[in-house]
Amino acid sequence: MSDTPRTVTRFAPSPTGRLHVGNIRTALHNFLKARQQGGTFLLRIDDTDAERSKEEYVEAIRSDLAWLGMGPDGEERQSQRLETYEAGFAKLKTSGRVYPAYETAQELDLKRKILLGRGKPPIYDRAALALTDEQRAEKEAAGIAPHWRFKLDHDTPISWEDGVRGPQSFDPAQLSDPVIRRADGSWLYMLPSALDDIAMGVTDVIRGEDHVSNTAMQIQMFEAMGAAQPAFAHTALLVGKEGKLSKRLGSLGCDAFREADIEPMAINALLARLGTSRPVEPIADMNTLVEGFDLATFSRAPAKFDDEELTRLNAALVHAMDYAEAAQRLPEGMDEAAWHAVRPNLSKVSEAQDWWRIVTGPIELPQFSVEDQSFLALAADTLSWDSEDPWHELTGALKEQTERKGKALFLPLRLALTGQGSGPDMRELLPVIGEEKARSRLQRAAGG
Ligand code: GLU
Repeated sequence: MSDTPRTVTRFAPSPTGRLHVGNIRTALHNFLKARQQGGTFLLRIDDTDAERSKEEYVEAIRSDLAWLGMGPDGEERQSQRLETYEAGFAKLKTSGRVYPAYETAQELDLKRKILLGRGKPPIYDRAALALTDEQRAEKEAAGIAPHWRFKLDHDTPISWEDGVRGPQSFDPAQLSDPVIRRADGSWLYMLPSALDDIAMGVTDVIRGEDHVSNTAMQIQMFEAMGAAQPAFAHTALLVGKEGKLSKRLGSLGCDAFREADIEPMAINALLARLGTSRPVEPIADMNTLVEGFDLATFSRAPAKFDDEELTRLNAALVHAMDYAEAAQRLPEGMDEAAWHAVRPNLSKVSEAQDWWRIVTGPIELPQFSVEDQSFLALAADTLSWDSEDPWHELTGALKEQTERKGKALFLPLRLALTGQGSGPDMRELLPVIGEEKARSRLQRAAGG
């Protein structure tokens, strides 16, 4: 056995809304990393904020991850781990790494404004640390419950080798001691997350670069707890094509993708490669994404999410999709030949039903000219089902019997048989429509 610990990654959403592209991407990175290393991918529900967390979102997160093909190997909930946080907190209290503070939000705001007004960074002045026991007792006697801050060690510079950003270093004196616990005893994100990462043996944390300064502070929490820190990687943010992720699918929840009938692998294939030096390709197999996952290919520049790229990728996946995979989502009666006939014309699987309706009919026919009508009457008589390829046979025979070729030959036939000016290859579609229906459509188009 090697000494390297087994890879454990986690995806840690707060259940305050549906998953959106940004956090799906983070989930995917952690999933791919764990799978690639033969490790464990955990779902950690960050639900310490009882007011904003909702059970319906917890369920939606589970079902969205399952739908995306990223079912976790285990699930933890912060709301059920309060004892761990109490124990960690007690330890840090004993070692003097947490301290009570009594400022109100207004007081803190004022302090920040004053510092900013003097052109200084709005770093907390640690006034609470200077309070005497007596002063603290007075506050508490006056009914002011403290909130708690983690005391950063100003003498230990913070540095780590970031999997995406390279060497990172922070001067702890340039950071405010983070508030870790509210006056009502509830927890803020920072400490529970670090304590969980320790307790769950998390080896790798991949998350958005909005967490970089949290990481700096959490590294000191790992140290204060006497635990090894995980490897951190902070990915560049996802932005929309025009700068922000504000429009259409890019800003919506995973439910919007599901309702829009986007293939989960189209989302995965796009999000796995966005912001990397690898090309975005229509990859239908998660294992291919697992094998190709490599933080070294990640760029520090913001990654651009484009709805249209997703739509294109989706269409490419549908065009290559086997019948067996699509079958359950196809209309009743639609067989493999029909799927193969219409597949190249779909950008989503659900569009198959439009073509299936055309195949099964009834269809609306346009009004044909007198010349076209007699041509279509001839077509109805000529139609034969003797060969493998009735379309080839029909058009070949009509070409010989009439002066028609190209569009004049093909378009009236297509219009009569499908009611549409364009669509799937008729060579494949005609056998799906079937002889009887094809003949009667031609006859009806001919005015008969
Ligand atoms: N709940 C945090 C978030 O959604 C988790 C961050 C993390 O530690 O990965 O931002």
